[in-house]
Amino acid sequence: MVLNYEDYLLVIWEYSESVGRTSEVDIARRLKITLPTVNEYVGKLLGMGLVEKNARELKLTRSGKKVTIPVVRSHRIAEVFAMKFLEIEWEEVHRAVMDLEHLFSGSYGDNLYKHLGYPDKCPHGNPIDVTTPGSRITPLTAKNGEYVLDRITLELNDTLEKLSGISAFPGTKVRLYWENNQVTLENDQGKVSLSEVENQSIRLRNLSPRKKQLVLERL
Ligand SMILES: [Zn+2]
Repeated sequence: MVLNYEDYLLVIWEYSESVGRTSEVDIARRLKITLPTVNEYVGKLLGMGLVEKNARELKLTRSGKKVTIPVVRSHRIAEVFAMKFLEIEWEEVHRAVMDLEHLFSGSYGDNLYKHLGYPDKCPHGNPIDVTTPGSRITPLTAKNGEYVLDRITLELNDTLEKLSGISAFPGTKVRLYWENNQVTLENDQGKVSLSEVENQSIRLRNLSPRKKQLVLERL
């Protein structure tokens, strides 16, 4: 995998959407590269005015966001493409498009988006139009009960493999409860307990609108 500055921006975006902040250590872990390499790249991004650093926290600047939004969009479109046409598994598709997505910016990306039928979301439930407001219910803020898995904002391989192990994909139903001090998601395929970061990067939505619709359909 050849990393370029777009990969860094994408990681900073993912973390800011999930946990609200990023550090160079997070980026190093996420991209599996050394901290000095990250420091060097982040130095360049700071110099370009794309990110700002406060204590150890990194944030995209206004111009950083402008550059990053098309990168996020291309990534999500490339994921839909890779899953649909390259038949790459749901849990693999994020990693698989890390090289591919850079080819799908600008008009190529727009053409691909059109031929894919203008999908709303990536396979992990994240909106292609990044300004679309999403559910704010996280496993930590949710009460025990049934929910629909809405999205996984931080597409960590471990998280995706864990969820795919019980076929918990966006749009499917999960039951949430606490067990041994950990949030647990369960469906008829099994159960998984969530890590600290997963508690912040998974979004759930209420069942009620669909239930309501089913009731209305029966009337
Ligand atoms: Zn995705």
